[in-house]
Amino acid sequence: MCGTAELALRAAVSQMGVAVSSDTSRSTEGLGRRFESVLDTIGNTPSIRINNLAPPYVQLYVKAEFFNPIGSVKDRLAVSIIEEAERSGALRPGQTIVEATSGNTGIGLAMVCAAKGYPLVVTMADSFSIERRKLMRFLGARVVLTPRAEKAFGMYRKAVELAEKHGWFLAHQFESEANALIHENTTAREILADFEGARLDYFVTGYGTGGTLSGVARVLRRTRPQTKIVLSEPANAQLVGSGQAQQRAADGSPATGHPAFEPHPIQGWTPDFIPLVLQEAIDQHYFDELIPVSGAAGIDWSRQLAQREGIFTGVSGGATFAIAMQLAERAEPGATILCMLPDTGERYLSSPLFEGIEETMTEEELALSRSTPGFQMPAT
Ligand code: PMP
Repeated sequence: MCGTAELALRAAVSQMGVAVSSDTSRSTEGLGRRFESVLDTIGNTPSIRINNLAPPYVQLYVKAEFFNPIGSVKDRLAVSIIEEAERSGALRPGQTIVEATSGNTGIGLAMVCAAKGYPLVVTMADSFSIERRKLMRFLGARVVLTPRAEKAFGMYRKAVELAEKHGWFLAHQFESEANALIHENTTAREILADFEGARLDYFVTGYGTGGTLSGVARVLRRTRPQTKIVLSEPANAQLVGSGQAQQRAADGSPATGHPAFEPHPIQGWTPDFIPLVLQEAIDQHYFDELIPVSGAAGIDWSRQLAQREGIFTGVSGGATFAIAMQLAERAEPGATILCMLPDTGERYLSSPLFEGIEETMTEEELALSRSTPGFQMPAT
């Protein structure tokens, strides 16, 4: 017979995680391999079930791109552009790479350039979040800011000027064939593998360059033609929805900004022109529905994903998820939906996503602190 003291001790030890049973506890097996480079850890992101927010009669999954090594879907594009250019000879050993980017492409390129030893210069409008600039600089890149009034077109033209003047390699994410190609070869193949033998009624995405959409849609149209592809764009910048064609230069880059563009809070989505990479998806009818979404809905659903699911994504992820929830509500029972979550929410600490998240204790937290006598903060 155990005494009360011994029982209490056993309970305490078991709570500390010492006396646990290996049959019932969570465990992992390892990946069964070692990686030669951080670059080999790009992709193979998980499709994760939404358990609390989704209506019970549908299966809603998110493809969590924040599992990429530097935290976004653009890690895929970055390694693809550089490795395709190495293979074709367009990029010389040690040559400086330059690109116009609102952040995630620059951060991805900075990681790839660091791993492979290329210098990187990024041009970026000064309206994008401070942590994006700092991250790129932390990874060894140089960041040249451009005036926000000149929009995405201004930062793109600056990158072109710098490339021409200094003989640098321009990454051309908006036109490069390496963009959709990597989504065809990785993102789409992962989706096919993860939903093999299962329903996949809807695939939902937004667009920045359109690489995710064009690459995934090439494969889904061929192999899963029953899957409806749903595209979203900001409600106040409906470039695709406007039906107005994009003026282009001979190389496919934009000749002017698009008339339907307005500044919007969904960073990484919809530049002020229709990219050539996205044009393929428009011309080939790669999406079945186009549904606009507000920036406010993106922020709201990003917060709900964090607080109700423990899934931490940025505003574009929240915006894509807002559309996935609309589809879920009108879908037939048993329908399966996959929603892209392009990046981590940690990239938005200084942006409107975190507005109202306090640094100091809230009234509720102060009351909790006062509810026991010890370790209270001095009154200010
Ligand atoms: N969301 C975020 C946060 C992004 O950075 C990007 C890429 N610019 C996208 C979505 C869209 O991805 P894609 O360029 O493949 O259309």
